[in-house]
Amino acid sequence: MFEVVVVGGGPVGMLLAAELGLQGVRPLVLERHRVPTGESKAGTLHARTAQSLDRRGLLEAVGRTTYGSVSFHFSGMFGLDLGAVTDGGPSIVGSPQAWAEQVFARRAAALGAEIRRGQEVTGLVQHDGHVTLTVNGRELAARYVVGADGARSVVRQAAGIPFAGTGARVAALMGDVRLLDPYGVPPGYTRTPRGWIIVWLNPAGHSRLTTYDFRAPHADREAPVTLEELQAAAEHIAGRPVPMADPRGLSRYGDAALQAETYRQGRVLLAGDAAHVHFPWGGQGLNTGLEDAFNLGWKLAAEARGTAPDGLLDSYHAERHPVGARVLWNVRAQTALADPDPAVDPLRELFAELMRFDQVNEYLSGMISAVDTTYDVGVPGAGRMAADLELKTAGGELRLAQALHGGRGLLLDLAGRDDLVGTAARWGSRVDVLRGRADHVADALLVRPDGYVAWTSAARGHSLEASLERWFGAPDAD
Ligand SMILES: Cc1cc2nc3c(=O)[nH]c(=O)nc-3n(C[C@H](O)[C@H](O)[C@H](O)COP(=O)(O)OP(=O)(O)OC[C@H]3O[C@@H](n4cnc5c(N)ncnc54)[C@H](O)[C@@H]3O)c2cc1C
Repeated sequence: MFEVVVVGGGPVGMLLAAELGLQGVRPLVLERHRVPTGESKAGTLHARTAQSLDRRGLLEAVGRTTYGSVSFHFSGMFGLDLGAVTDGGPSIVGSPQAWAEQVFARRAAALGAEIRRGQEVTGLVQHDGHVTLTVNGRELAARYVVGADGARSVVRQAAGIPFAGTGARVAALMGDVRLLDPYGVPPGYTRTPRGWIIVWLNPAGHSRLTTYDFRAPHADREAPVTLEELQAAAEHIAGRPVPMADPRGLSRYGDAALQAETYRQGRVLLAGDAAHVHFPWGGQGLNTGLEDAFNLGWKLAAEARGTAPDGLLDSYHAERHPVGARVLWNVRAQTALADPDPAVDPLRELFAELMRFDQVNEYLSGMISAVDTTYDVGVPGAGRMAADLELKTAGGELRLAQALHGGRGLLLDLAGRDDLVGTAARWGSRVDVLRGRADHVADALLVRPDGYVAWTSAARGHSLEASLERWFGAPDAD
């Protein structure tokens, strides 16, 4: 009987396995591919993901960080500055998905996860105290199963969890090709009255080319893409010849926006694309999935260890489902604004003007980069990710992010509050106490393992003890 089985060794499954390992649970990861595909759909990690990775000491390993002002777009309209909302951390991280997946896989293995490749899950049955999985035709039992097995999740389907939302109306093609007239198509995002052509230009080698054709969705999502099909789509949309050769990694996808109705059903949980899929406007899919993993890891580990308070594991759905729904909503809005019909032009012009207002910029940048994520933790002023405070402690200076590398809860005492330190000490097996000085309004903060503030002394009438019990369960036995 395995404690936790993670189905799917993509980036979300591997990060989740690492998070479980950090909490002392040794999960089994089942991945159907014998070797990693090396394919990278995603290449961008946003500020909230960067902040979470920094709180595990993983930020430098995943990619190239950019700080300060970063121009970004909403529905292909460049006018956002992601640097406006980053709170000192990176505004964006360039990280090919396949690379990040390997970083997480190595960490998961180092923390005790067992990764079995060439293992395809084809069935799942829930029982009272466990789940049986069918893997390569044989049965395997687990106390908990997480489906991190992508958009067509077998785990989600076998558990009977509906995937609801809106169907596709746009046909997208993507591939890396050698453009034979590289300056004949404009680089970047171009909208024409017939659709979109997006070119990441490399005049000397392979350029990444994407087309969005709004006439109709793909008749067959599984049909292989040919160079001729991609070229025809590009020429239709660009309205001119787009000669190309040497295709690599051709793929087709659509703009269906679907979400699992529940992220937990008994002993089965869903994370990443298994829980939510949408068009890639703004590069939010992988980011949302990685944040699912940070939210779920410590909660599922506590449940598996038997220390979780009532409702902790259910708080995964309660916190992450609304975040996923909001991503689907903003992506649907971006697709609607992207419609090539010239009747939409005035709406885009108006939207572009609105984006110049600082408040609108911050609202949209906060949403795309997910730094506006706030959970309802029942304490006024809490629920946001704790700022990366510069702390002066008896042992020297450190950043709050560094104090969270171990993935434990943290009571941060900034004002010599012996009373609060004494209370937190009763949860010493799960919660650390750190005393120091920092530029902050509150005397003390309780920070969850995922970096979110669970309690602040600034909220009058809300006891630290209640929050400790809510997130960490009963105090240690004397
Ligand atoms: C064109 C494009 C560009 C994108 N760009 C971005 C971007 O810039 N930023 C961003 O955040 N997101 C982006 N995304 C979305 C991102 O690629 C996905 O959200 C991400 O891959 C989800 O990761 P995952 O681990 O949940 O699922 P996957 O990456 O799909 O991994 C699932 C894993 O499960 C395995 N698996 C599946 N079924 C089984 C089974 N039955 N048994 C065992 N193993 C199984 C698969 O082999 C795979 O390894 C983009 C998507 C597209 C299409």
